[in-house]
Amino acid sequence: MSAATSAVGAPGAAQPAATLAGMTALVTGASRGIGRAIAHSLAGQGANLCLMATDAARLAEVESSLAGLPGRCLSLALDVTDRAACREAVARASAEFGRIDILVNNAGIHHAGSFLSHEPEDFQRLLDVNLFGVIHMTQAVLPGMIERGYGRIVNIASTAGKWGSRNQAGYNVSKHAVVGLTRCVALETAAQGVTVNAICPGFVDTDMMGSFRRDQAARGVADPAAAIEAMLAARVPIGRALRTDEIAGLALYLASPQSSGMTGQSIIIDGGMLTA
Ligand code: NAP
Repeated sequence: MSAATSAVGAPGAAQPAATLAGMTALVTGASRGIGRAIAHSLAGQGANLCLMATDAARLAEVESSLAGLPGRCLSLALDVTDRAACREAVARASAEFGRIDILVNNAGIHHAGSFLSHEPEDFQRLLDVNLFGVIHMTQAVLPGMIERGYGRIVNIASTAGKWGSRNQAGYNVSKHAVVGLTRCVALETAAQGVTVNAICPGFVDTDMMGSFRRDQAARGVADPAAAIEAMLAARVPIGRALRTDEIAGLALYLASPQSSGMTGQSIIIDGGMLTA
């Protein structure tokens, strides 16, 4: 695990009132896509951040992009499948900031292909990252949250955790598991001031969409990008993939003190997508 710290924020600059001032948020998969947008959203509200992903260089770029925002930032390069590294990272962030108030379990991978083409290793890798990554991080932060009587855990699941999809059985299995885990952990922590909710995005314009393009190409589709545009037009009533900031807005609400009455929920945000 590599680490770097930096202060972000211009000394003496006037800052607007921030809802997360003094709080610390830990975001996995913060190096790009949805996690990066969530990091910006939380930092914009004054949170100190601990950014995590495997790619240290990309994390450093995200950290630079946060310069000028009020909180402090710690970047830790780690693989969420490594339970010991997750525990070490939480200990490091706790030592740096004093407490972890918010955990956003966002790191995830996708795999496209028919059920029959999935190797056992494909299922295992999806479960290792998408489910066990969430388990390792949550078990590392929860004792401190329970002890302090406050915490917000936001799991980035997927609409794939809510219904069936063709040609991504392993991914759907992993996201259904995250939705189930969200419900169970929420029940066990509700009386201790800790809320646990999941966000279930539909199609979001990130690198992960490349997985769909590669699958289309492998199926011999001549123009995968055009095929995906046509699919979005047909299935998503708003007519487009969501932007990462649209997911980050919901994550900010679930990460904030204002969401205290909501726990165990898995909220779909998908542009009104049709399941068929
Ligand atoms: P993305 O652009 O591919 O980003 C994935 C992030 O996860 C990256 O920061 C990546 O960082 C990190 N990551 C992957 N494996 C990791 C590991 N083993 N350990 C630590 N970090 C790891 O994807 P995204 O679209 O932003 O996806 C974010 C989350 O939203 C995922 O859980 C995904 O399943 C979910 N989601 C996405 C969509 C969509 O349409 N895009 C829809 C529904 C749900 P490194 O490469 O640096 O490790």
